[in-house]
Amino acid sequence: MNFYKARNDLGKRKRFSRGVIVGEFESTLTRCSECGITWSMPGFGRWFNDMTYNLRIYMDRDHHPDFSGVSGYPIVSTAAKTMLAETFSNAVDFCDIEMVPAESLPEELKKEIRTRNGSRELKNISNTPPQYHRLLLKHGIEADYQKSNIELAVDCAMCGFKRYVTTGSSYIRDEPMYLIESTWKGYGVFNVECRGNHLFCTEKFVETYKQNKLTGLEFEQVQLV
Ligand SMILES: [Zn+2]
Repeated sequence: MNFYKARNDLGKRKRFSRGVIVGEFESTLTRCSECGITWSMPGFGRWFNDMTYNLRIYMDRDHHPDFSGVSGYPIVSTAAKTMLAETFSNAVDFCDIEMVPAESLPEELKKEIRTRNGSRELKNISNTPPQYHRLLLKHGIEADYQKSNIELAVDCAMCGFKRYVTTGSSYIRDEPMYLIESTWKGYGVFNVECRGNHLFCTEKFVETYKQNKLTGLEFEQVQLV
């Protein structure tokens, strides 16, 4: 059995669109007094798995892939959702997203984008974004952290926050990862705890993706132990 890590294809001749969160994240959690991490920040991703959170996004351009992302979390087109629901239904869950067209963006946000990224960036924003869906991966596989050169840098007993890093670095570098084959539960698509938002998959997933002519991913074979 071969396993693969999927990474986002940014687009060859024309760049693919990415999702960007509209508006402030509504915080329900506060800063942890033990580890100092504020969970409410979008970057920490808890909102992504919160099915009740109404995610509102715009797409930063008009070339839309089937697999894209928002703040590093996977979002999929309706075609990709259909394929996943048909072939890998026990491995995934979905949640709808509110798509905001360029013309409906709040004036304040437009001003902010113009100031930060220039008016060209603003002009690129899609006015006809297709419907995307949050993709939640329900199952995991374990990695050999020692062999993969990864360590758990923060493991807060109080709030449960975990941060994995590549040894000697402050984040996880894009280096070869070793997965433990015996921990695979038989699903076609799954994640690895230290890379919670990254999609890993089997050869069957890669084949189905290609048969359905889906776009937005590139696959790299991973090592097994
Ligand atoms: Zn904490």
